[in-house]
Amino acid sequence: MPWTELIGQTGAVEQLQAALNRNRLHHAYLFHGPTGVGKRTAARILTQAWHCRVKSAEGGCGQCRTCRLIGEELFPGLTMIGGGGSVRLEEVREMVARVLTAPLELGGRVFVVRGADRMTAEAANRLLKVLEEPPPETVFILTATALEDVLPTIRSRCLQVAFARLTDRQVDALVGEHGWAVSEERAVTVALAGGSPGMAAAAADNGMQQIRADVGAWLKAWVGREAESPPLEMERDALELRLRMLAAYMRDIMVWKKTGQSEGIINQDQIPFIREQAAAWADPVACLMTIERANRWLAHNVHIGLLLEVLWIEMSEHRGGKYADSSRGPL
Ligand SMILES: [Zn+2]
Repeated sequence: MPWTELIGQTGAVEQLQAALNRNRLHHAYLFHGPTGVGKRTAARILTQAWHCRVKSAEGGCGQCRTCRLIGEELFPGLTMIGGGGSVRLEEVREMVARVLTAPLELGGRVFVVRGADRMTAEAANRLLKVLEEPPPETVFILTATALEDVLPTIRSRCLQVAFARLTDRQVDALVGEHGWAVSEERAVTVALAGGSPGMAAAAADNGMQQIRADVGAWLKAWVGREAESPPLEMERDALELRLRMLAAYMRDIMVWKKTGQSEGIINQDQIPFIREQAAAWADPVACLMTIERANRWLAHNVHIGLLLEVLWIEMSEHRGGKYADSSRGPL
């Protein structure tokens, strides 16, 4: 697909497109920016633009066999590792073996390491060896959300490419185009995405209804003082979606407490619930700060069990219970 398909990343597109068109690709890039804004897509687009049989200055055609294989990440010249929790030494070892043995006649190979900010030291050191002496016709793309967590020795060998959050309007257009939300949940999906189309897609995959139900149950349990212990286990992505949803509810509670009106509320179909919750939370701003910190911890790969435990304790401390202030009035 052409470079123009990468929505909202003009800077990154210009940088990569110009390098490729001048045949001056760097041997290693570090794509950094928020989750789900197009870093992995950009790696695919770059590979297509490099390998497509009918490519133009605008990029790959997106239709030929090569482009389709790359689009499905089945192309032998494109290798991707990481993307879950930590990048493991074993994965890097296997990739390095491919770097050193894969035939060069593939004519340009792209190796992607997702989550370079969540690499064990051993894995990073193994990767460093090939970054220091890269074979010809080989491009490494490392992706990271927390740039400061990428080892300085790795960072210094890569050219950095910044990826930005999209605007709500851009995300809304993508939600509509891909059918990621039913109309009543479109606004809340865009709010939860927070500029990340990948998050909107993940919310659709995980089931927005389920996410809202889970977070609604947490709030009720905190207020009812029934939830003294957090869920034992949760996938990282599932937790991230729920933290975002929790923040959206808390913003609604804050708006209701401040104005007593439904205008500006994201969860428009849940006004009675918001009103009921607003009576119980004395300090939504403190709650939002707790949620924000939990989000940061998640980005820095803190143990999920610990994160949930702290979230539970702090949210329980913030709840106002039956002695909370009235649901109206200034904060
Ligand atoms: Zn093509």
